[in-house]
Amino acid sequence: MKTVKVSVVTPDGPVYEADVEMVSTKAKSGELGILPGHIPLVAPLEIGAVRLKKEGTTEYIAVSGGFIEVRPEKVTILAQSAERAEDIDVARAKAAKARAEKRLQDAQEHVDAKRAELALRRAINRISIVERNL
Ligand code: ATP
Repeated sequence: MKTVKVSVVTPDGPVYEADVEMVSTKAKSGELGILPGHIPLVAPLEIGAVRLKKEGTTEYIAVSGGFIEVRPEKVTILAQSAERAEDIDVARAKAAKARAEKRLQDAQEHVDAKRAELALRRAINRISIVERNL
């Protein structure tokens, strides 16, 4: 089976590195499915899941936006934050969700609402990855 190298990198360091059969994620322009040998591209990502197919299993990583760079033999995902499913603290994400929902209710200013909405989306993304509710 052909594979492509994948690295997921954040400002705190690398989160994931492996050879995989397929990378799927959500770019701003829509769903992306990357197989080995894909033509080069760079695309901004949504807050969402990165799905990595490897030896018959799928691994999930939560990313909070960022960029994907695709080259035929290497895929790099640069994200402000990224967590492997098994490293997500679901209680923390649920607390962040509740805080963001409260801030959204109370928000007077547009900037507060926008910030709270992004925090809410990050929290929902993390929870849905742990619960595999994608
Ligand atoms: P919180 O309000 O709980 O900090 P947040 O969405 O504001 O959530 P981020 O700014 O996206 O957090 O991330 C800050 C750091 O904490 C990053 O390193 C991120 O990977 C980590 N992180 C955030 N939430 C979780 C979580 N639920 N489980 C594990 N790591 C998390």
